[in-house]
Amino acid sequence: MLDRRTFLGAGTAATLGLAAPKVKAARTMAEAESVGVRRYVPLGNTGLNISDISFGSSRSADPELVRHALARGITYFDTAESYRFGASEEAMGEGLKGDRDKVVLASKTKARASARADDIMQTLEESLQRLKTDYLDIYFLHSVNDLDRMQNEEWALFTERAKEQGKIRFRGMSGHGSQLSPCVAYALDHELADVILVAFNFGQDPDFLDRLRTTFHFVDLQQSLPAQLQRAKDNGVGVIAMKTLMGARVNDMQPFEKPGGTFAQAAFRWVLSTGKADALVVSMTDVDQIDEYLGGSGDTKMTDADMELLERYVSLQTDQYCRHGCDACDGACPDGVQIAEVLRTRMYEVDYRDPFMARADYAQLAIRAESCLTCAHQACAAACPYGLEIPILTRDAAVRLG
Ligand code: SF4
Ligand code: SF4
Repeated sequence: MLDRRTFLGAGTAATLGLAAPKVKAARTMAEAESVGVRRYVPLGNTGLNISDISFGSSRSADPELVRHALARGITYFDTAESYRFGASEEAMGEGLKGDRDKVVLASKTKARASARADDIMQTLEESLQRLKTDYLDIYFLHSVNDLDRMQNEEWALFTERAKEQGKIRFRGMSGHGSQLSPCVAYALDHELADVILVAFNFGQDPDFLDRLRTTFHFVDLQQSLPAQLQRAKDNGVGVIAMKTLMGARVNDMQPFEKPGGTFAQAAFRWVLSTGKADALVVSMTDVDQIDEYLGGSGDTKMTDADMELLERYVSLQTDQYCRHGCDACDGACPDGVQIAEVLRTRMYEVDYRDPFMARADYAQLAIRAESCLTCAHQACAAACPYGLEIPILTRDAAVRLG
């Protein structure tokens, strides 16, 4: 098993002529050489080939980390204008300097339904500048959860112009909200995406949940999503999965991990074994973690031990985890608190241990959880079909992030 608390030598980085990343502890050469991407996959019909486990940057802005990922064989790098207020793009541009043409580079913008093509082009130009490049391989409409944004004709116009001008090669959509499945369907129906980037993890799989149904009371989420992903694949649209760790409370699982696989590796194997996604992207925040994550590369079969770990994870998290794509408590608060969004930002603080991202996202919510601090009626108390104690959790979010 790759120990996430140990680290490897920097041999591969030196071979590629890259700056050596931070070295925290020695590992044997044999172990070091076993670390790296073991499978590259075609991304739909784009003609692009990418590492099956790839670099997400929502929680980092560190050129050294980018170089380490590159040295380990990662070839798909994913960022967004909004990540760390542009600092992630800047770090990625710095980290990929001299190696830009060896990788597939993607960024995203949250263009609104009313956005004009010229304004979106300006946003793209700014991303290109931060990324120190003159083109992106993929440009995503970011975090789509309503059809209005997909239906904005200015987005389609912009992407056509940007392609003609050589500023983007492919266009895509990304999403993780409750309306993800219909948004994917719309994008496929209208040929608006060459690639889709979607939240997809074992906790969303009706077949996986069926195994646990006798023990837990699950409500399947977005049952149509796997079928939409299959349709995307059948249509030659590239599919990349994200949010694959179902909340990413990886530290809770350390006592149960055995040689041969960590929880994260098991979760990745689940995604890659479904055949519904070409590859996955995951936020990478330190070099140890990159090496541990890449221990899951190349495997497309689940083991019994993997299943045990995932089932245990679900059992531990079931009354804590606010499901991606669920909005069943929508409207339960008379004060309009955006419960699912508030709990998502709390997850960034508590589970991801990323107070920067948590506070930045919380601050952007239209209606935050301040009223939970003094709420007497707690009208939301029974609104979660999974048993989450919403008033306690939203109050906690207000205290932590307000
Ligand atoms: S609190 Fe419960 S009902 Fe509300 S979004 Fe989260 S999982 Fe769904
Ligand atoms: S605790 Fe009260 S204010 Fe907070 S979400 Fe629930 S109903 Fe709304």
